[in-house]
Amino acid sequence: MAPLAPRAPQPDDADPELAAIAKEISGCEKCGLCRTRTRTVPGQGNPRPEIMFIGEGPGTDEDRQGLAFIGRAGQLLTRMIAAMGFPREQVFIGNIVKCRPTIDNAGQKDRPPTPEEMTACIPYLHRQIAILKPKVIIALGATAVKGLFGESMTGITKLRGTWLSFDGIDVMPTFHPSYLLRQGGDSGGTNKAYWDVWGDCVAALKKIGREPPARKKI
Ligand code: SF4
Repeated sequence: MAPLAPRAPQPDDADPELAAIAKEISGCEKCGLCRTRTRTVPGQGNPRPEIMFIGEGPGTDEDRQGLAFIGRAGQLLTRMIAAMGFPREQVFIGNIVKCRPTIDNAGQKDRPPTPEEMTACIPYLHRQIAILKPKVIIALGATAVKGLFGESMTGITKLRGTWLSFDGIDVMPTFHPSYLLRQGGDSGGTNKAYWDVWGDCVAALKKIGREPPARKKI
C-alpha cells in the first residue's frame, strides 16, 4: 500500500500541548480500533475556542484524512457554525473516540463506539478539554453525551436543549448532524430537528454573551 500523504497542518498543531496529545493518539493501541483505522482523528481547530463541538467518532472521510467532521455531516455542521457567525477555524471540533469504529471491524459501515472503546479513549478528550478550556461545549448526539457523562445518560431527544455541566464547563446536548441529514438536512427549512439544533446553538451563543444572528425558516 502506498504511504499516506501527511495530514494537512491544522491551527491547533501550533499549540505544543495539543500537538503532543495528537502525536500520542497517532500511536495509540489502547483499544481494537487501532487495527482498522487508516488515520487517527484527534480533532482540530482554535486552541483557545469559545465553543467546542464534540461528536461521536470519525467516519470514512475523517478516517481517510485524519480530520474531524469533514464528510456530509461535517459540511452541515460547518454551515451551522457559519450561521452562528464563526469561521470553522474559530471553534474546536473533536470526538469521543479518535479512531473510526466499523461494523464487525470490517472497515465498511460505521457504528457507534462500544462503552469499552469510549472508556479507553476518553482520557484524551478530557486532557484536550483541560487545555482548550472552552466557554461552552456543544455535545452532538447521544454518544457524545454518554462519553462525557456516562452510559446512564440516555434519551437525547429528552436531554437536548437542557444545560449540563462538565468540569465547570456548560454543555449543551443536541442532535448529531448525521441525524439531521436523515431528517432532511438544512434545505427547505422544514426539518424540525434542524431548528431544534439551531435553538440549542442560539442558547450556546447567548451563554457566551454573543448576539445570535437572526434566522427564519424558509
Ligand atoms: S480509539 Fe482511542 S483508545 Fe482506541 S486506539 Fe484509537 S486513540 Fe487509542
